[in-house]
Amino acid sequence: MGTPRPFDRDAGPLQVLVRELLHDLQPDADLVEFLDSPPEHYTVRIALPGQLGKTLILSRRLLEAARVNPVALRSVRLLLRTELSQQQTSRALERAREARASRAVIEGPIGICDICEKPIRIHDRVVVRQARVAHARCLPRALDAGG
Ligand SMILES: [Zn+2]
Repeated sequence: MGTPRPFDRDAGPLQVLVRELLHDLQPDADLVEFLDSPPEHYTVRIALPGQLGKTLILSRRLLEAARVNPVALRSVRLLLRTELSQQQTSRALERAREARASRAVIEGPIGICDICEKPIRIHDRVVVRQARVAHARCLPRALDAGG
């Protein structure tokens, strides 16, 4: 995962807090970045396994309040949960895309027609002639051309 980055000492307990909240919400989520910027804010990057993650900017005031104030804590939790559920959605979409892509490979061309030089798909009728593969529909054309 990400390389640990330096952070100022004050950020330590806040970083721990965010990590704990994150772990509660989604045990396999990871806090990959915790930066003391922009001013008065922290930039937090959380990622699910196999994802680059997305940054979330949290107000320093809110995070500090979250350590002592249950309402602020709930707000931070909600922000993290929203971010996580967006990431889960995009991960699910990505997986669906990958599944479609791998199916496309299976259904993709199985060869190139020796006559029209277009791809031959698995559903096409094919003829094999002198160890060459062609669309069945292309064969009469080849015969017309003498060959
Ligand atoms: Zn063909």
